[in-house]
Amino acid sequence: MTLPDSEEFDVVVVGGGPAGSTLAALVAMQGRRVLVLEKEFFPRHQIGESLLPSTVHGVCRLTGVADELAKAGFPRKRGGTFRWGANPDPWTFSFSVSPRMSGPTSFAYQVERSKFDDILLKHARKVGAEVREGCAVLDVIADDERVRGVTYTDADGNERRALATFVVDASGNKSRVYQRVGGKREYSEFFRSLALFGYFEGGKRLPEPNSGNILSVAFPSGWFWYIPLSDTLTSVGAVVRREMAEKIQGDQEKALMALVDECPLIGEYLADATRVTTGQYGQLRVRKDYSYHQTTFSRPGLVLIGDAACFVDPVFSSGVHLATYSALLAARSINSVLSERVEEEPALKEFEARYRREYGVFYEFLLSFYDMHHDEDSYFWQAKKVTKTARPELQSFVELIGGVSSGERVLTEAEILAKRFSSDSEEFAAAVDELAGSQDGSMVPLFKSSVVREVMQEGGQVQMRALLGEDAEAEAPLFSGGLVPSPDGMFWQLPVAAQSPPE
Ligand SMILES: Cc1cc2nc3c(=O)[nH]c(=O)nc-3n(C[C@H](O)[C@H](O)[C@H](O)COP(=O)(O)OP(=O)(O)OC[C@H]3O[C@@H](n4cnc5c(N)ncnc54)[C@H](O)[C@@H]3O)c2cc1C
Repeated sequence: MTLPDSEEFDVVVVGGGPAGSTLAALVAMQGRRVLVLEKEFFPRHQIGESLLPSTVHGVCRLTGVADELAKAGFPRKRGGTFRWGANPDPWTFSFSVSPRMSGPTSFAYQVERSKFDDILLKHARKVGAEVREGCAVLDVIADDERVRGVTYTDADGNERRALATFVVDASGNKSRVYQRVGGKREYSEFFRSLALFGYFEGGKRLPEPNSGNILSVAFPSGWFWYIPLSDTLTSVGAVVRREMAEKIQGDQEKALMALVDECPLIGEYLADATRVTTGQYGQLRVRKDYSYHQTTFSRPGLVLIGDAACFVDPVFSSGVHLATYSALLAARSINSVLSERVEEEPALKEFEARYRREYGVFYEFLLSFYDMHHDEDSYFWQAKKVTKTARPELQSFVELIGGVSSGERVLTEAEILAKRFSSDSEEFAAAVDELAGSQDGSMVPLFKSSVVREVMQEGGQVQMRALLGEDAEAEAPLFSGGLVPSPDGMFWQLPVAAQSPPE
């Protein structure tokens, strides 16, 4: 098919990962003309295989892809099992309140991303988005007022233009498109790490009912993830200090095995396993410098979602949640503007405030989570003490989420923040102790700890709205003058109190 040199759409989405395909589906479902430009041909490999329930039962239910995911045969993840903190034995964080009370939505999936992303992208196409693979976006087209489209190279190598009311950058962390939003990408010193990972056949499984859980194990040089992707295939990765880059760039096989030797529990799980050496899982891979945020997420005509905007450390599997959740927020804003329900400025303000808040909540949780693990002799773990964290980093975090922190957890300055992270991590460690000592594995102590409560809250809300629709409880605005989701979850609207006419 010969494409015209220049076309017009309501929305052009750069990148067809979970963020891009989710946004494309949610906007195309409103009858809008959406074009997704994806550089690769799917299925393609991607890291980020352990999901959270809010993606599976919340956002993916809203897009209508949840039933298809359920049929795909991905292992069910009931939670995470951690060898982390003071307790020498692994403890389990379960998404349900107790192992005996697991509800229909208290699990997520472990996914081969090549399959998961392909299902989501095909679904976007099915609900009306035009998806073009093998198309790499080169740049945005902009004037003084706004971004008006993109230039891209099509699958035959021809340069083309696509004009749109909105361009959504969902191109992950490797493209340069995000720079056109303005501001700068700030990298986190605290989470500055490096991951070396590969795939194994025949690794051991956790005892039932937790065989589908992610296993995360702290060891002197960092921590390991161990993710069951099928009955026999396991994704295994070590997260270590950035300074170890040189060692790891050399003989990666040797480096990974030396790290496994340092971590007896992972060694035990891999004792009878063989590393996959062919196909998409055949190579060992390295990812570095992966925690950052852009100082601004939008400008007129351009919105950044998923990894294009921000990413924080993989230990609690938040990447795909933040990608799909930010896609939902941005879709609500774009749907509201295109249907002339809300002006662009307040719609983008709502998107940005909520996305920053959710990112901030995970960031805080992870600081406390790292702080909880003590190892006096380890350089990696000593650098993960919140009280020793460089103040400029905390200050930049205050600026990032200033004004959008929830309730009484208002942030003011770095000093106060550091103290709060320390006390949160003590509370968290005490909850883990209580959990490890309990007979029935009840999650109540953990869910009572403030950082855990916060980190599960918004995801729970999204799940509730996806499940109950119109019957879901009315939500409160995030800030004075802010908006709330419409009953179907697809738009922003004024809170009910602000809608009723004065008596
Ligand atoms: C070591 C590590 C472990 C992780 N583990 C987890 C985990 O267990 N769970 C979890 O939820 N998350 C995890 N993540 C995070 C997760 O990988 C990402 O957050 C997630 O993939 C982000 O989705 P996205 O759609 O924003 O971007 P991506 O998945 O990166 O998709 C972006 C798409 O854009 C395309 N693209 C790029 N440039 C262009 C261009 N110029 N034009 C057109 N298309 C383009 C790319 O080909 C790609 O398909 C991990 C991350 C790392 C680094």
